Parts: sequence; structure tokens; C-alpha cells
Amino acid sequence: MNPASLSTAPRRLLARVRDVMAGEGSAQSRLDKITSIIAADLVTEVCSIYVRRPGDVLELFSTRGLSPSAVHVTRLRFGEGLIGEIAARGGPLALSDAPAHPNFAFRPETGEDEFRSMLGVPVLRSGRVVGVVAVQNKTERQYTEEETETLQTVAMVLAEMVAGGELISRQELMPTDGIALKPLRLEGTCFSRGLGIGQAVLHEPNFDIGNLVADDPEHEMARLHEAFSAMLGQLDTILSQSPLSSAEGGEHEDVLEAFRMVAEDAGWLRRTEEAVTSGLTAEAAVLKVKNEMRARLGQASDPYLRERVHDLEDLANRVLKHLLGTGAQDKLYQPEHMILVARNMGPAELLDYDHTRLRGLVLEEGSATSHVAIVARALDIPVMGQVRDVLSKIDTGESIVVDGQNAQVLIRPGEDVQQAFHETRKHLEQIKAQYAQLKDLPARTLDGVEVSLNINAGLLFDFDQIEATGADGVGLYRTEVPFMVRTQFPDVEAQRTLYEKVLDRAAGKPVVFRTIDAGGDKVLPYWDEFDEENPAMGWRAIRICLDRPAILRQQLRALIRASRGRDIHVMFPMIAEVEEFDAAKGLLERELQREKNRGGILPEHVYAGVMLEVPALALQLDKLVQRVDFISIGSNDLMQFLYATDRGNPHVSDRYDILSPFALGFLKSVRDRCDQAGVPVSVCGEAAGHALEAMALVGIGFRRLSMPPPALGPVKEMIRTMSERQVAQFLHSVLEMPRASVRQRLKAFAKDHGIKI
Ligand code: PEP
Ligand code: MG
Repeated sequence: MNPASLSTAPRRLLARVRDVMAGEGSAQSRLDKITSIIAADLVTEVCSIYVRRPGDVLELFSTRGLSPSAVHVTRLRFGEGLIGEIAARGGPLALSDAPAHPNFAFRPETGEDEFRSMLGVPVLRSGRVVGVVAVQNKTERQYTEEETETLQTVAMVLAEMVAGGELISRQELMPTDGIALKPLRLEGTCFSRGLGIGQAVLHEPNFDIGNLVADDPEHEMARLHEAFSAMLGQLDTILSQSPLSSAEGGEHEDVLEAFRMVAEDAGWLRRTEEAVTSGLTAEAAVLKVKNEMRARLGQASDPYLRERVHDLEDLANRVLKHLLGTGAQDKLYQPEHMILVARNMGPAELLDYDHTRLRGLVLEEGSATSHVAIVARALDIPVMGQVRDVLSKIDTGESIVVDGQNAQVLIRPGEDVQQAFHETRKHLEQIKAQYAQLKDLPARTLDGVEVSLNINAGLLFDFDQIEATGADGVGLYRTEVPFMVRTQFPDVEAQRTLYEKVLDRAAGKPVVFRTIDAGGDKVLPYWDEFDEENPAMGWRAIRICLDRPAILRQQLRALIRASRGRDIHVMFPMIAEVEEFDAAKGLLERELQREKNRGGILPEHVYAGVMLEVPALALQLDKLVQRVDFISIGSNDLMQFLYATDRGNPHVSDRYDILSPFALGFLKSVRDRCDQAGVPVSVCGEAAGHALEAMALVGIGFRRLSMPPPALGPVKEMIRTMSERQVAQFLHSVLEMPRASVRQRLKAFAKDHGIKI
């Protein structure tokens, strides 16, 4: 960095603000001095500082230029007026004509009617808005980016004053009213199943920065660069030593690679350098950029972008540790049975902890496809996400239960409850061990009917489950899942490498490759999103692929090349019309021809099938069965479309039961028609993985099921304890009943006949 480019103006302002902050007098008088200094420095008629109070209210704490009687009187809620807008959006707002803004709210007591232009920035602390600082002018002034930047830098210093507890008590700053010491039960979303019991460890890096304003900017710049390179070096070590790195190939590698790319992102370093240039110390600059990113991107509706914030935070914390000279690892408190509790975290942060002690992870945010969730699943750690405000309700060292089975987190459970969970966990482990023993036994009913049990897979590590569960193969490989964790659309070669690994891992067992089912809720981060009123019924899956055939052709090409002579099974999702299957199959044939022309090795056999998940297709079975090599029923989507109930909406998703005479009768009619035509048919939706539903499916004639890997043991056990003939007979009578559900009857039947469900 050229020393001449280290501008002096913002640094002078910062130094003055710092001196006032550290000087004599009451907090209020110092704050008043600061508002005057800012107003003078930025040549504005007004400078006002608002501080956040409980209930998401912003109170005017100090002003230069507005009516002094408004101080501690004017209060605005988050989102109210322009000040509230700045707080709510967590980002700056520069307006040359503020009253013209739709959110402008005039407060007569402030006397601000004379002012026209306004520049305001949030005061951020740990990514949380703790106040707003704003300047105003009478003229229609266009504030420059540098001025915004300067005000943000000053806001960074002010944040320390607010957090110091001089203006308001620290208690008030807490997101909630502290920790209630009663046991609590919180709900959330399960990202990784299982049950974990242990002591909470709050993953909440809190840095005491100390000096915020630099005396020697060049020295700070050098420190910053040194810390960045140290962070990158350390990252390489962590990633290469992680327990996952020894596992051969997999999406967690993509995840970690994407993480490394974030670390090397030049934009991030540049912004931090700019903050140093404006007068902050290296650590304050890192913190400033981290806070801004968190506030700005944390609200993004795009889950991919939100996820990047956590990666960046993880990395920023690493840089801070280098700058502050604190060894990361040795400071971590790691009890024997440790449950991590975090707002969110990046994958490398999880790997900082000793995974042999990790019993669970609880996140306030996150999603099942977030990088940390993917890595946690690979480590077989139960994860609960979207557990609101959990960080403010528990402290490090307190007992906690992560119950992924029931999507709940129990905080400070009583001794008896803990004991009960220990029992459940022991029991679950015993059951797991029992299922493991079934692994090599056939899924055969008491009266000798064999059922093929397969797993649904999405990521490479799921393929370990073929061996672990003794599955017959992969009945549904959701190819869009690995696309979702990447940073860009994989080219033919990248896909070929992946599919080759998939086929190698399956070691000769069949894998049904479902072509990309993107769109709807399966967002590919690098595809331009556009708003759809009804994405589940929108431009997704085969619809995208037929409109943009290059996508499907590349995928099929990669798959054909990956086969290296082995058989392949290709399944097209969301087919609604027979013609769509014909078109997709046409593309497959063209790709086979192309490969042949270039002298490549063709697959021994190519089986082309469809996913039956749109009811319209079920009404065209006569034509369909003449064309396809197999059919797999996607009961998740089929049920949602059959009953017009959103599968992702908890208010309605359970409203209709697949165990109803109508739904079972419908599935039976599909099965019978396929049987007559000699077309293999299976069920691969979630229903196939529930023992009771699987019992009914076998009872109506299905001989092939595909399910999430953990379901395979329980379903096999159920099959081995049922008589197909008895269940079929019972269903025959039950299917005549005019009921919305026969679940209870089926349960009672299973119980009476010793079927383990
Ligand atoms: C289904 O719809 O049942 C299915 C298995 O596909 P997905 O859950 O991936 O939509
Ligand atoms: Mg589906």
C-alpha cells in the first residue's frame, strides 16, 4: 500500500473522537462533544446519536443541531422513520431529499423540518444494531461514499462506548432479558438426526479489541497482511488435518474448498484495507467489515448468501485471533460430552473442536444444506437448527439435550429427564446395534416374499450407508444435492468425476441417478433466482432441462462417460406428460450416439425411467409403461399434488394421510398397471422409510422401496416380522372403508400380529 494513499482526514476525526471518549466528564457530556466534532468535521448542521433500548426502540441520546429538548424524549421503533429504517436494514442510508422518502416520519419536537438531506449509518456491535448515528443538512446535499465510510468508521468506535455500559446498562444490551434459570424446551428444525446429551459450550467469540484507532496506519496495514496470510496458512493445516480429509472424495471437500475461496476473496481484504486506511487498527478494521457484512448479508433472502456470511465471520474471527495473539485451540473449553451452541458457524470452526467429544450442535439459524450441517452429518453429530434465541437462554457449562428425533432442544433438564434421555440414548444405540446385525439378512416376510430395500442418497458420504445398512442399491440419487453445495455449476468433467466416484462407491449395486431436480425449494446458488408465486409447481426439474437442454445433455454425457461400460439407471423427475419423457429420452439417445461417435466406452445397459410424482402422469400410465424401463413413485410430491397440500408447510402437510383408502388404492392401481405391463415400480418418497407405511406398501404389492439410510434397519425388521398374505388380506377389507385415514387400524393390526413397527 502506498503510504500517500493513507488519507489523513478520517484518521484525524477518529483520533479526536477517541480522545474525547477516553477523556474526562460524564458519558453524556462526552457523547455531546462527539456529536459536535462529527458535525463540524463532516460540515453538517446536525449530528444525532440514537441508542437502542429494549423493545427495539431507538432513543435520541445526543444531538448537535436538533432541539436539545428532544434528547431522551424522541423515540422511534425499528423500521419507523428513516432512523428506524437504517436500524432495520442494518446498513447506511444517504438521501439528498429525505422528506421525499416514503418512510420519512416527521417528529415536531426535534425541529428537523428545516433539514433536507440526511446520511445515517447503524452502530453495530457483534452484528447487532445498537444505535444509529445520522447527520443532516439544510441543502440537498449528495453525500459521498467516502463520507459514508467515515461515518461508519466513527460508528464503529461509538459502538464500543455503547457496549461499555456507560450510556445504558449492559443488561439492556442483551438480546433478551437474560437467562431464566428454569428448564426450557425449545423447538427447531432437525438438520441431522440423533440424540445428544451433554454440557453446552457457547460458541460466541467475543473479542476485546482494546485499541481501535491507529497511531501508525502503515504498521497496521502490515499487521493486517501478516494476519491474513497466517489465517490462510492455518486454514490449510486445519482442512488437511480434519477427520474428513482422510475420507476419499466427497462434497464436504467441495464445501471446504468453497470456504477456502471465501478466505481468499480479494474484495474482503480490500474492504478491510480501506478501513485501516481510514484510521482503524487492523483488528478494528476486521471487526468493522465483519459487522457490516453480517448486518447486510445476514438479512439476505438468498440462503446461499446468508451462508457466506457465516463463512466470512468464521474467517474474520481467525484473523482477529492472529492479531490479538490468542491461541485459538488452547482457549476452547471442551467438556467430555460437549454440545456446541452457536448463532451459526462455518465448517472450519466446527472442526476446531475435538470431534470425539462433540455430542451435538444447536444453531439459532442455518439450514439443512448449510456447510456446517453437511460437515456435521458427515461426522454423525445430531444438529438442531433454527432454534430461536437459544444463545440468550443458556450459558456455557449448563446441561442440554439435542433431540433430533423430536426436533427439540431441552435446556437445563431436571435430573430425572436427563436420566430418561440417557436411557433413550442407550436404547437407541442398542437398537442401532440390532439393526446392524440385520444388515446381511434378507428383507423377507414370514411367508417368503422378498422386498428390495434401497437407500436415497444425495452426498457422497451417504454411499457409505450402502455397506453399513446392507442395502440392495441406491433407489434415488438426488443429483441436485451436490450441485447445491458448490459455488458454480459443475462442468461435464467435474460431474463425470463425481458420478464415477458414485458408481465406484456403489461397487456394482445399482444406482438410480435422478437428473437434476433444481428449482422450487432446491436453490442453486449460482443460478439467477426469479420470484415464482408457486415454486413447487413452477419452473423446476425436467421443465428447466427441456427448456435448457444443454444442462441435461451435459449431465447425461457426464454420466455416460462415468459409467465406463457399467450399467446406468437414469430417472427423469417431475414428468407430467408422456411427451416430456420422450423428449428427455431423446436427449439421452443423442448423448449415447455422440459418445459412440467419439469412440467412448458405452454403458452395458441404459435403463431410462421416470419419477411418478405428478398425478397427471398416473392417468397416462397405459402409454407410459410402453416406453419406460422403470417407474419410481415420489410420494412426497405425489401426495402434495394429489391433495393440493404444500409438503413444506407444517400447517397442512399432515392434513392428508397416505394411509388412507384413497391414497393406498391409488398407489395400488399404479402398481397393478405396472405389474401387468412388466415394468418394475418402486416407492422412493419418505413414506417408504416409515415402518407402518412400508408395511402397507408391501401389503398392496410393492416389492421395491427406497428410503433414507437410517430407515433401512427398522423397515427391514418390520418386513421380517410380517406376513405379506395377512397384511394384504387385511388391507383388502380396510381399503373399502370411507375413511380419511386407516393409520390407527393398521397400527392395531401390526400390534396384534407382532409386526415390529
Ligand atoms: C418425492 O417427491 O417423493 C421425492 C422422492 O423427490 P424429492 O423429495 O427430492 O422431491
Ligand atoms: Mg419430488
